[in-house]
Amino acid sequence: MSRTTCPYCGVGCGVRATPLGDRTLKIEGDADHPANRGKLCSKGTHLGETVGLGGRLLHPMIAGKRASWDKALDLVARRLQETIAKHGPDSVAFYISGQLLTEDYYVANKLMKGFIGSGNIDTNSRLCMSSAVAGHVRAFGEDVVPAGYDDLDQADLFVLVGSNTAWCHPIVYQRMQAAREKRGAKLVVIDPRRTETCEDADLHLAIRPGSDVALMNGLLAHALRAGLVDLAYLEASVSVPQGFWDIVGQGSDLWSVARICDVSPEQLLRFYELFAAHPRTVTLFSQGINQALRGTDQVNAIINVHLATGRIGKAGAAPFSITGQPNAMGGREVGGLASTLAAHMDFTPDHVARVGRFWSAPRMATKSGLKAVEMFRAVEEGRIKAIWVMATNPAVSMPDANRVRDALAACPFVVVSDVMADTDTGRFAHVRLPAAAWAEKDGTVTNSERRISRQRQVLPLPGETKPDWWIVKETAARMGWASAFAYEGPADIYREHARLSAYENRGERLFNLRRHAAIGNHAYEAMEPTRWGRLPFAHGRFPTPDGKARLVSTVQAALPEPLKDWPLTLNTGRYRDQWHTMTRTGLSPKLARHREEPLVEINPDDAERLGLKEGDIARVATPQGQSLFRVQPSEGQRRGEIFTPIHWTGRQSTGGRTGLLPRPLTDPHSGQPGFKSTPATIEKVEIEWRAFLILRGEAVAATLPPALWATRITVSGGALYELAGTGDDKLLDGWLPAGARVEAADPARGSRRIAVIVDDRLAAVLFLTRTGELPGRDWLIAQLDAPQVTPTLLAGRAPGAQPDCGPVICVCLDIGLKTIVGAIVEQELTDVAAIGKAIGAGTNCGSCRPALARILAETVTNAEKIHAVE
Ligand code: SF4
Repeated sequence: MSRTTCPYCGVGCGVRATPLGDRTLKIEGDADHPANRGKLCSKGTHLGETVGLGGRLLHPMIAGKRASWDKALDLVARRLQETIAKHGPDSVAFYISGQLLTEDYYVANKLMKGFIGSGNIDTNSRLCMSSAVAGHVRAFGEDVVPAGYDDLDQADLFVLVGSNTAWCHPIVYQRMQAAREKRGAKLVVIDPRRTETCEDADLHLAIRPGSDVALMNGLLAHALRAGLVDLAYLEASVSVPQGFWDIVGQGSDLWSVARICDVSPEQLLRFYELFAAHPRTVTLFSQGINQALRGTDQVNAIINVHLATGRIGKAGAAPFSITGQPNAMGGREVGGLASTLAAHMDFTPDHVARVGRFWSAPRMATKSGLKAVEMFRAVEEGRIKAIWVMATNPAVSMPDANRVRDALAACPFVVVSDVMADTDTGRFAHVRLPAAAWAEKDGTVTNSERRISRQRQVLPLPGETKPDWWIVKETAARMGWASAFAYEGPADIYREHARLSAYENRGERLFNLRRHAAIGNHAYEAMEPTRWGRLPFAHGRFPTPDGKARLVSTVQAALPEPLKDWPLTLNTGRYRDQWHTMTRTGLSPKLARHREEPLVEINPDDAERLGLKEGDIARVATPQGQSLFRVQPSEGQRRGEIFTPIHWTGRQSTGGRTGLLPRPLTDPHSGQPGFKSTPATIEKVEIEWRAFLILRGEAVAATLPPALWATRITVSGGALYELAGTGDDKLLDGWLPAGARVEAADPARGSRRIAVIVDDRLAAVLFLTRTGELPGRDWLIAQLDAPQVTPTLLAGRAPGAQPDCGPVICVCLDIGLKTIVGAIVEQELTDVAAIGKAIGAGTNCGSCRPALARILAETVTNAEKIHAVE
């Protein structure tokens, strides 16, 4: 058994992983890890299903052909050197990732900023939390998160802003819920969408998107009026810019704020009262705040409230940016963003000289490099002629992603190091380098609360895969810098990183790993999770020249009116059981069941007005592009707003590509793209037939069947495709494997059903209809694993009644919606705990508990309505 760390979100949960042979792992939560104390959410729980070798890149590839490491690395080093020699250091770039370990990050950053001599290294964390970084630096002088998970155990009020925590940081959510159950802590959720995080909240403010600054300034103005501003703290510890209070006061009366935010004055007052009544407040925020065109101002508006009321540097009181990726924070520590240098230093002449001395660097970068959106623009314009993408998939995840694809396609030299053989970005690579995956890597990560945890190697390196730090070090050596990169293992790199953090640091930088500067290999191997800067700001001192924090004047930007041609506003985000572009979570049959297709959620009134029904296929379009989604009317959407998920790529679906829709516009301070509000339209796509195809594993191909709508998910034993289209449906037959065919047809309904049998076992089924209904998929999927074929196969169900359990809600125990509703009604269940006791749902990882609360509320409401009619 190895103690390691979950590779998904920034909660950074400890995992106990035990190899079971045949590359499978038993996964348990680590009861000794302070972040999760033994709990894991659904994604962490099912990590063991994602460590197989299916789809892995196992050998270096040059121009699509297998090559040796020597050949591949020689080529990478030579092309980078030639490009630098001809066009200068700024003609090359690295685009890296919050999936990298700190040691990987450190080496890549050192190579680019100290040896190549350019700042052109940016990370996909730019897309998720760079506004928080910029906000922290403006307010505190350094990018320090002033909160930890202990604060959640001591707070009396949680304010969640722009964060679907129940889905995106489930263990943090469960920790808040525990505090609410134990101590009666209150929960306010501020989010334009009614998400599952809101289900059990004391108050949900469904504010107009982008009105957060008005809301926070209104709260601060109310705090001033109500005597909640801590004048003594301000005097001692905070610089207040001239005119700050005038700006806060402008238009900050209750009615004006309510009007701007589009909530009722009563709701707003309730928020103010809750804030006034609970000094121990933690305000958590994530992508809803950061991924905005005024994201940094929104961050500072939140921090202003905490600084002005003295709710910071005390137990249970702090603003708390929760990071999206497992090692976004580690990337911030090493300086993996183009706008920072290293170890919380930036591009001032002093810092550049200091880092240069420490690295003995031949060619230090002296200015910020290009941030993600600018970087791909420079690729498009030919200013960057060689780019190395590590552990990320910008062809899917960047805004205006089609333009990024065009840029990569035209770039003279693209290197992609990745775990997977076929990613949307990898398709543009001249050289592909096989990187070690989560269970094969060794190093450290830092979570949202600044806790450094070890990630330990649990499985051997398969094929010719190598850790990312090794790949970069070998490239550096071939570029002539072998001695500066002579690391034998991650412990060497970590020691150097710790030494740099302490180098000439007389207390100006809170990020200081001095105690690890000489850590031995054994101590590094055995390192327990450890937090740096344990209680920052506890004494009201901040890492600024005068020791004071700074209030930052923030003004609510004018909110755009709906455009005539693009009348809707598109918001984007995550699903509970998927991660990024699904290269890992997509391998888990259980995780796939929570949301099987990419949905566009739309307010039911808008759906009716636009002639859209549940299950229709709709085209969502923006000025940047268009993609198809399955329609899901949702009361949780405000009118005029739609929501799509970020996970689907061209590999899993003909539609559902959200990344190509947002504008490549960014926050002026942080360079973070504003993913959350893009002018858009939606229209129904006419469909003539619907179908599904189930294929046993060996028949599953990398491409998708020929259909207008085709999505693929992994199921036990194979894959399930949902299909829809127009015209001739016979092309689908070509997708069926060779074998004995059993067929049935109903020409009146335009229905066809085909099963393919190979060696007496089911190899494939295709069910298609033009006017009728399709049966549930679960029983048919189970037949892939059955030892022999059931005669009623083409009926789509077993002999005798077969209950359809509905969409899976509890993925751990495989419990469907209909089972849950049935139990609530028949057993008259009244709370989530009772549902768990009756049928087990929600009793394992707990990630579905908010969904159970929603289902319970809806079922009870429906029952009451029926009762009233009767
Ligand atoms: Fe992993 Fe879930 Fe913990 Fe995030 S909350 S680190 S996804 S187990």
